[in-house]
Amino acid sequence: MLSTRRVGISRDPRPTARRGGVFVALVAAAVLGAGPGRVRPAAAQPSPRVHVVATGGTISNREGGRLSAAEVASLAPGIERYAQLSTEQFSNTASGALTVAQYLALAKRLNALYRDDPGLAGIVVAMGTDTMEELAWFLHLTVRDPRPVVVVGSMRNPSQVGFEGPANILAAVRVAADPAARGVGTVVVLNDEIHSAREVAKTDARRLQTFRAGEYGVLGVVDPDRVVWVRRPIQRHSATSEFDVERIDSLPRVDILLTYQGAPADLITAAASAGASGIVVAVAGAGAMSGTQAAGVREVRDRGVFVVTATRTGSGRISAGTADRTATTDAATERRRAHTLVAEDHAPLKARLLLMLGLATTREGHELQRMFREY
Ligand code: GLU
Repeated sequence: MLSTRRVGISRDPRPTARRGGVFVALVAAAVLGAGPGRVRPAAAQPSPRVHVVATGGTISNREGGRLSAAEVASLAPGIERYAQLSTEQFSNTASGALTVAQYLALAKRLNALYRDDPGLAGIVVAMGTDTMEELAWFLHLTVRDPRPVVVVGSMRNPSQVGFEGPANILAAVRVAADPAARGVGTVVVLNDEIHSAREVAKTDARRLQTFRAGEYGVLGVVDPDRVVWVRRPIQRHSATSEFDVERIDSLPRVDILLTYQGAPADLITAAASAGASGIVVAVAGAGAMSGTQAAGVREVRDRGVFVVTATRTGSGRISAGTADRTATTDAATERRRAHTLVAEDHAPLKARLLLMLGLATTREGHELQRMFREY
């Protein structure tokens, strides 16, 4: 059941010291007269509203009982200086236990939150870090609003020394409340760094600085004085996305298979037989398969399964020209070509989710390939 609670609502969100400063300025203005050239005290701005949706993960995984959404949102003392918070418990589980159906349900919920509340500044989603790069990317593609979704978690749990959940939730709320976050889509904020959901990956099983965006780097950082942005995503996402989850009830099965020396065709054909409409092959370099994989790929494409090659290297791009091309143009070859796609610079995990959304809307190969170029 979804529940909505408000926490930490502060009438005047500014720290006492700053309120004192304004009082002094008011007295000074009254005494001196606030004429031209004099600094007038700014009218009190209403503090931005941020909604925190908790799904579980290490940030809530306290020994003896998980933290609720309201408890996660109030981890950081003084957080109400930056935003008025409301909270909602979507689930309270490890991220790997979230289902694809829950991905869809969460995307629908976040779209509804933005649709029904034009004054909401931003949404924070608290979750486990293990599959964060997947859910964040899914939300980047499906929450069709210019306002940001900030995904946050922690590497240490609330019962461990050095639990960094309070610092992370504070940073996430500050990013969600920042007017400059408009248009960036879904971002991952941990360790005071802001990463685009498009490129971010968990790169270390334990370290706090685990989230990295490869060669692309951070979108910005959360410093004590302000949120600093250094770049913005230019690919389609969020408000410019074509993926309308209101029209999608379920997502087709797409599997990922890794290329390794001597990899067999039968795992590829088994995925197709198990019902996969698409298969992502995490290939070596810019497109190389191994063993009998290529024969498996040929067979499943002839059965109408879309096969996407995505590089397993962690960075770089596979271009359409690198994919299998032959001179003949008979119907069978055309069909095979239509089912042969490349992931461009998307990692295999990201390519899978994009293909799932793509296959929920079209079965045209050239349209699916366009999506890999545009998002
Ligand atoms: N690290 C786990 C995850 O990614 C969290 C473990 C838990 O919440 O039980 O969700």
